Amino acid sequence: MHLSRFGLVLLAAGAAHAAPADHELRDVAAAVEPTQLRATVERLVGFGTRHTLSDTRSATRGIGAARRWTQARFAEISKDCGGCLEVVTPSQTVTGPRVPQPTEVVNVVAIQRGDSDARRVILITGHLDSRVSDIMDFTSDAPGANDDASGVAAVIEAARVLSRHKFRATLVYGVLSGEEQGLYGGKILAEYAKSQGWQVQADLNNDIVGNTRGQDGVRDNTTVRVFSEGTKATETPAQAGRRRYNGGEVDSPSRNIARYMASLAERHLTNLRVRMVYRTDRYGRGGDQVAFLDAGYPAVRVTEAHEDYTRQHQDLRVADGIEYGDTIAGVDFDYLAQVTRLNLVTMAAMANAPAPPAGVAIEGAVQPHTTLRWRSVPGAAGYRVWWRDTTDARWTHHRDVAVAAGDLQSATLRNIAIDDWFFGVSALSGDGHESPVVFPGDAGSFWPGEPPR
Ligand SMILES: [Zn+2]
Repeated sequence: MHLSRFGLVLLAAGAAHAAPADHELRDVAAAVEPTQLRATVERLVGFGTRHTLSDTRSATRGIGAARRWTQARFAEISKDCGGCLEVVTPSQTVTGPRVPQPTEVVNVVAIQRGDSDARRVILITGHLDSRVSDIMDFTSDAPGANDDASGVAAVIEAARVLSRHKFRATLVYGVLSGEEQGLYGGKILAEYAKSQGWQVQADLNNDIVGNTRGQDGVRDNTTVRVFSEGTKATETPAQAGRRRYNGGEVDSPSRNIARYMASLAERHLTNLRVRMVYRTDRYGRGGDQVAFLDAGYPAVRVTEAHEDYTRQHQDLRVADGIEYGDTIAGVDFDYLAQVTRLNLVTMAAMANAPAPPAGVAIEGAVQPHTTLRWRSVPGAAGYRVWWRDTTDARWTHHRDVAVAAGDLQSATLRNIAIDDWFFGVSALSGDGHESPVVFPGDAGSFWPGEPPR
């Protein structure tokens, strides 16, 4: 009795001040080094082209040399953490509209197994392949410094920094290929995740994350865009029918990850604001996160705030006084470091928080009170019920809830009407980490295939 009371006091203090979690996240952010990011981008640009159809045998040029270097870099990082990373190379031989001959697409993936919740997986991804103006041109120089050596540099820096820490959940660092030829790498990794039985709770896909001078002339090194889908790609007609009355159009798990990232940036980073964009990707465009969404996994796209199209997918040339091409001169490494910090803080927070609650249900029609119920989360030391006005972009109100014995948890918000607000619930760890907020029902669930309650 005495012990449990003591435990409760500790939890209350942890939830109020969240000191251990805050320190950990700030340490992680502080360890990111622009010079490390530059070294990776320089190395990748040095392979001349990393086109998916380019040479695979040369030791110095082409996609083969680039992926072997990536594999060796992960091995080196693993050596520094006593072998904490397992490096795998999931691959498939594909043909398609942009792949006329059967071609092996190889991802290079490092896995850092979680200590206590290893089946739960948080991924960061970027793509290794590059291109020029003609998508089928696999011989011309295609430096791809920003698209997407910048994203790969963030992935490798994530592995370097986070491998020095321990996490409850598993972290996966994915360097993908075949993106420009048809999002093959994302699809291959999503299928690999399924075959391994991973409970994927987020893919943070970093694609074009290093430029701060927009073609519109705007220079902005303090904003990053996070794109998230509104309703799940996998939503069934029956689920859409329920959503029509219950809401959830703006509360997919991916969207709630975007909100989570915005809050983490405010709390733990300086001079970096997340601009949430309520779209799966930029207008009419895509990225490897789409393959994860298609597989039913939460995923977001992280991208710089202002793009410069004279630097994307261009032959290296000068025309009408404009220098075209995706060269290293277009990457701002201090900004890339900021975006990398956002990713690392998000991964560390999710991996050391308890899982996002499952089986979240809500009731309260024709009564003044609202009740939420959810399944107990292993390792949770408390829960936080959130609500917001239906037109607000971010969660605004919250109330902490103590853990109840048994498999089911619940909270009743007295005189708060279900009709007028959107609601959600997150799980808290004893040391102050919080999971993303989960919106009730299938629309908000982080757990694909979860039976509705
Ligand atoms: Zn790209």
